[in-house]
Amino acid sequence: MKQLFYMYPLQGIAMIDQIPEPQISLPDDVKIKIDYAAICGSDAHMAHGANDFLFEMYGIPQGTPIPLGHESTGVVVEVGSAVTTCKVGDRVTINTVIPCGKCHSCRTGHPNLCDATLSARGGGGMAEYIILPDSEVYKLPDNISSLHGTLAEPLHIALESVEKAEIKAGQAVAIVGGGPIGMLTLQVAKMQGAYPIVLFDITEEKLRFAKELGADYAINSKDADAVAQALAVTNNIGFDKVLECSGSPKVLDMAMSLLGKGGGLVITSVYPGGSKYELDLSTFFAKELSIKSSYVAPDTYVRSINLLNRIDCEKTITNVFPVDKYTEAFAAHNDGKNIKVVIKF
Ligand SMILES: [Zn+2]
Ligand SMILES: [Zn+2]
Repeated sequence: MKQLFYMYPLQGIAMIDQIPEPQISLPDDVKIKIDYAAICGSDAHMAHGANDFLFEMYGIPQGTPIPLGHESTGVVVEVGSAVTTCKVGDRVTINTVIPCGKCHSCRTGHPNLCDATLSARGGGGMAEYIILPDSEVYKLPDNISSLHGTLAEPLHIALESVEKAEIKAGQAVAIVGGGPIGMLTLQVAKMQGAYPIVLFDITEEKLRFAKELGADYAINSKDADAVAQALAVTNNIGFDKVLECSGSPKVLDMAMSLLGKGGGLVITSVYPGGSKYELDLSTFFAKELSIKSSYVAPDTYVRSINLLNRIDCEKTITNVFPVDKYTEAFAAHNDGKNIKVVIKF
């Protein structure tokens, strides 16, 4: 079967088409024929070596092809004897972050931080077939297409980051970065009643998309007066919450300067290993600011699938490419003019 990999370290993305089709071996295994796999910012960052520090941390030998993809939908084609959550023929989405249930993080209520997720069974979602335990397979509602269903995974990340930010109705919210997570975060923050919502990006296309998806203001962060423009929207009080979704460590200064007194920054971004940010501690203390990070999500998947009915899936997915055109698909993801790019298997 065909499968896409990141060739660790730093050898880019490759399609290997002689991968043996995975076979069911455990009673709770579900075999899924993948229909669509969306490109996540983390897949693209990985191709540039951003996760190499993680692979090193988890002791993965150099030269190992790392399976890509975790935003996939497909059809169940075979189930093990103990499977209860789905049956052959069901259209499903998947969660490839499989907690071990045994490590310290899992046993203290943080399965998203599981020590073993990188080596868990399952493989990648950018493959013709994948096998996962049925606990990680979710049926798609009849009114959600398999293409739109690919948004369930990134939407559950956006949902988690909005919840980490504890956004309340009427709070001023700034979102930095108009990638897929930024655009989904925008839509969830809007549903939570945030107002005004300002989205920052560096391309005019993204700013236009942001306005179409509900941003009250969209500001080009390259503008010399970008921060002043945004603060003016809050009568110079500053934002209650800032959500950093850009993946660029350079924007941290800007993100922090947007916060009003008592404000909170939530980071939902993969940064290159070793990225640093110098914090102005006196301002941080005197304004009683806070910074949190939101890494994967422990319990928002089911609600995310429900919410697919409330977000604009049509506008959020801007391109679909056949798997053989994966190079073009990643180029479209990287060119800054699209939101969610999806690969059709
Ligand atoms: Zn993702
Ligand atoms: Zn664990």
